[in-house]
Amino acid sequence: MIKFNVAEINLCTEAEGPYKRLTIWFQGCMIHCAGCGNPTFQALEPNHLMTIDELTSVIVMAKDKFDIEGVTYTGGEPTLQQGLPQLTECIHQMGLGVISFTGRRYEEVQDELYGCDMVLDGPFLINQKEERRRLLGSTNQRIICLSDRYADQMHWFSSGKKLTEINLTDTAVFNGDST
Ligand code: SF4
Repeated sequence: MIKFNVAEINLCTEAEGPYKRLTIWFQGCMIHCAGCGNPTFQALEPNHLMTIDELTSVIVMAKDKFDIEGVTYTGGEPTLQQGLPQLTECIHQMGLGVISFTGRRYEEVQDELYGCDMVLDGPFLINQKEERRRLLGSTNQRIICLSDRYADQMHWFSSGKKLTEINLTDTAVFNGDST
C-alpha cells in the first residue's frame, strides 16, 4: 500500500496560495538548495507515513471545518511521493483545487504533477532572491497555470494582503505511522 511521507500539515492557511488552503509539507528532498527554508524536511527518511485514505480524511475535515478552497503541496520535494496523481484526483473529487511546489523543472516531472491546477517550479537560488512575488523564493521560479482554476488569481502573488493562519498540532492531524 502506498504511504505518503508527511512532515507537517497545516489545516487552513491563507499564506500558501490564493484562498484558504490546507498545506502538506512532504518529507524528503534530494535537491539541497543552499539556503533552503525547510532543511529539516530534506532528510530522506520516514516521518509521518500516511495512506491516501488517512490524508483524504484530514482534507475532508479541513473542508468541513474551514471551507478551504484547495490544497498546496510543498516540502521537501512533493514529486518524490509515489501516488501523488491519485491523491490529486481524490482532492479534485472533493471539488478542491491543487497547487504544488517542485524544486525540479515542471517539464521533468509532468507525470508526478499530473492533475495539478498550478505548479510553482524550480530550485531556490539564494543569489536570485525574489523581492516582488509572494510565496516564491527566487526569481528563476515559475508560476505555471495548468487549468483555468487560478488563471485569474495571478494578482495574489503580487498583493500585500494580510495573511492569517490556523496551525494545528501534529497530534490533532496525524493518524498514520510515525517513526
Ligand atoms: S527544493 Fe525546496 S525543499 Fe528542496 S532543498 Fe530546495 S528549497 Fe529546500
